[in-house]
Amino acid sequence: MKSFTPELEPINFEEFLSFLSPLEEFKEFVETLRNIARKRGEFLYFVGGVVRDYLLFKTQGSVTLPQGQKDIDIVLEGDLEAFLEEVLKQIKGKVLFKSQFLTFKVKFSLRDHELIVDFITARKETYPDVAVLPIVSPGSFIEDILRRDFTINTLALGLTPPYEEVIVDLIKAKKDLKQGIIKPLHLKSFVDDPTRIFRGTRYATRLNFRFAEEFYQALEEALKAESLKKLTPTRIYNELELFVKKEPMNILSELFITTCELGVFKELGFNLSKEKVKHGVELFIKVKENIKAKFWTKALLLFFVKEGEVKSLERLNFHKKEIDKVIKALNRLKELNTEEEVFDLLENTENWILFGLISKVKNKGKFIEEYLLTCSSIKPEIDGNTLKSLGVKNGRLIGKILKLIKLKKFKKELKDKKEELEWVKNYVSQL
Ligand code: ATP
Ligand code: MG
Repeated sequence: MKSFTPELEPINFEEFLSFLSPLEEFKEFVETLRNIARKRGEFLYFVGGVVRDYLLFKTQGSVTLPQGQKDIDIVLEGDLEAFLEEVLKQIKGKVLFKSQFLTFKVKFSLRDHELIVDFITARKETYPDVAVLPIVSPGSFIEDILRRDFTINTLALGLTPPYEEVIVDLIKAKKDLKQGIIKPLHLKSFVDDPTRIFRGTRYATRLNFRFAEEFYQALEEALKAESLKKLTPTRIYNELELFVKKEPMNILSELFITTCELGVFKELGFNLSKEKVKHGVELFIKVKENIKAKFWTKALLLFFVKEGEVKSLERLNFHKKEIDKVIKALNRLKELNTEEEVFDLLENTENWILFGLISKVKNKGKFIEEYLLTCSSIKPEIDGNTLKSLGVKNGRLIGKILKLIKLKKFKKELKDKKEELEWVKNYVSQL
């Protein structure tokens, strides 16, 4: 293997730890890990996001972080299982998950807080075929650095010798970080793992960085090898879900637009337009509270694609049953004429589907949009019992009247309970 001369930068370790967590017990926790690794003579380090973001924070004074908690990844060049056994003797905790990739997710109970940490074995990866998951085996620190996606994610901060409390830069990554460049480590990077194209888009957009020339070259290689086409729907979907769930909402449309501009959706068989993406995201932000979070990504994707592309959505991990439901609702919606019928359909269709259909039905789109904005707040104030006391005995009629009240409230024709009652009395008297 080529030899590397690492560039080393000592840092203020206390400051780094405070950046990760303000908790005193977190510092003690890291101290314990260090002592154990030192005693075992194994190299323990942070790498990737936390180091990158810390350096950006230090130089810029602020940095945009992903949503939610910072995920803490710690890597060990050594026998991770044996290391963790010792750790768990000293700190209360439980392994939540052990993966085939030599990683462990562990939940620790520190004094007043719980802490979840991902432990990773330093490893090398080989790709047996285009766009399939790699074969992973334990490797050296250098191999672990060289398997990573972008130069800015290769910076490591050592916790134990030989690189204690220094940032190790093997491949001049700091230069790219300073210049704000997203550069893959080699030109076959996206052939091996095309999900890196999505990852790179997230970094470029979130950090306001630009793609290096090598990014486009690696993309070109991936397109030549048709590696995006070979990715499984689940893997593509997981990446898109990270756009929606992990990134700040204010960059959502840019994430999808950049993905379009890189030609990714086209390669996957979808023709998205910039305008539609923008419009969809703006609408989504307004109504998302009324859509179940687990369907957010699907709602958006359905909105973005053309009607003729709906049947291809299995490619983006939609289930066949979901696609059938979408097509059925769409066809039905097109046939219906009266507001009452349309309203009834909206009431009986999942909101994520309704959202996606807004872009597919010209004249009814506004009606659906309005419905999604208000549906959680429209509820008749009178109920079945009130109707019974007014002499309505038939169960189906009660249901129908309540639905009509809901529709009238939605159209703002009825404001309050008094108006509902008046309207009902009048309606009943004409039966
Ligand atoms: P974020 O701020 O989005 O969490 P991160 O750099 O911490 O950024 P993670 O997804 O948490 O990203 O992954 C941790 C590290 O693992 C990355 O910094 C990168 O070095 C490496 N990594 C993750 N996914 C890949 C991949 N598909 N190919 C190569 N390296 C990867
Ligand atoms: Mg991370």
